[in-house]
Amino acid sequence: MTYKAEYIWIDGTEPTARLRSKTKIVADGVPLPDWGFDGSSTNQAPGDNSDCVLKPVFSCPDPIRGGDHKLVLCEVYLVDGTPHPTNNRAKLRPVAEQYAAQDSWFGIEQEYTFFKADRPLGFPETGFPAPQGPYYCGVGADEVFGRDIVEDHMDACLAAGLKLSGINAEVMPGQWEFQIGPAGPLEVSDHLWVARWLLYRIAEDHNVAASIDPKPAKGDWNGAGAHTNFSTKAMREGYDAIVTACESMGAEGKVEEHIAGYGHGIADRLTGQHETAPFDEYSYGVSNRGASVRIPWQVEVDKKGYIEDRRPNANIDPYNVTRLLVNTCCAALEKAGQV
Ligand code: ADP
Ligand code: MN
Ligand code: MN
Ligand code: MN
Repeated sequence: MTYKAEYIWIDGTEPTARLRSKTKIVADGVPLPDWGFDGSSTNQAPGDNSDCVLKPVFSCPDPIRGGDHKLVLCEVYLVDGTPHPTNNRAKLRPVAEQYAAQDSWFGIEQEYTFFKADRPLGFPETGFPAPQGPYYCGVGADEVFGRDIVEDHMDACLAAGLKLSGINAEVMPGQWEFQIGPAGPLEVSDHLWVARWLLYRIAEDHNVAASIDPKPAKGDWNGAGAHTNFSTKAMREGYDAIVTACESMGAEGKVEEHIAGYGHGIADRLTGQHETAPFDEYSYGVSNRGASVRIPWQVEVDKKGYIEDRRPNANIDPYNVTRLLVNTCCAALEKAGQV
C-alpha cells in the first residue's frame, strides 16, 4: 500500500521566503526518502545546475487528505550534501544543541491578514471600514471576517498534532492571530511553518489569500507581528534570570543583530506607534505593550515565568528568531551563573 506525502519546504524568495510543496507517493513501512526539486524555479539554484535536495525533518498526519497521508517538512540541501544557504534551520541546530540544558521554551503569536480582491477581508470596495476598536476579539458579522476559515485551520492544526495554543481576531478587519507553543526552538519553528502552510492551503479552498505582510494596510492600522514569548528553566524558576535575559538583549550590538533577523520591513512596523517601540531603541518593562520586551504582570507577581519579545514581524523566519534569542539570552544566563 502507499500514501501521499506532501513535501513542504522554504524557498529562496527575497526578501521574504515563501512556502513550496509537492506530493510524493510513498510505500508504507519505508523511511521517508530524500527528494529533489528544481531550485531554478524557487530562487535556490541557477538553471544550468538546478537540482536541490529535500531532506525530511518533521512529519505529521495530513488533516486535509486524511487517512494515512502525511505532511512532511524538509530542510533544503545542495547536491554536495551541505545545507543550502537559505536553510536557516541548519543554522539553528548547533545553537539549540549548545544550550539544550537550559531547556528554552517558545510561544509564537502569528498575526496574519486575509485578503480577497486585493483588499483585507471585510474592507469595503471603496474607502475604509470604521476605525480600529471593536474588531479585536470581536463577535458578530459587522466585526468579524473569515471566522469559518480560522475554525477550519484550528481544527486542521489540532488534527495534525501541532502545538497550537489558541487563536483570536485582531485589531483590523480580516486580521487574525494563532499561537504555537510552548515548545523548544526547533519544534516551535517546525510547527509554525506547517501551521502557515495549512493556513494558506485551507484559505485557498475558501478563495481567500492569507498574508503575513507586516504592514498589510496603510494608514492608522496596527501592523502584523509575531510576538515571541521565551523562557528558560531558570527564568521559569526565578526573577533574576528574567532580568538577565531582558538586559542581555540591550547589550552592545545586540539590538541591531536581533532587528536584522526579525523580518523584512521591520522599521516600517516598529515606529513607536500602534503598540510598538521604535526599532532602534531597546526597552523592557512590566505590562508595557509600548516596550520592545514585555514582562507580563503575572510574571512580576509570581517572580518567575517568561518574557515577550514584541519586536518580531509577522513575516519572520522563526528559525532565525529562536536562534537569536537562545544565543543572546542563554549565553548571558550562563555567564551570570543563572542556569
Ligand atoms: P498575548 O497576551 O501577548 O496576546 P498570547 O496568549 O497570545 O499572549 O500568547 C502567549 C504565548 O506564550 C502562548 O503561545 C503560550 O503558549 C506561550 N507561553 C506561555 N508560557 C510560556 C513560557 N513559560 N515560555 C514560553 N512561552 C510561553
Ligand atoms: Mn496574542
Ligand atoms: Mn496579537
Ligand atoms: Mn503578544
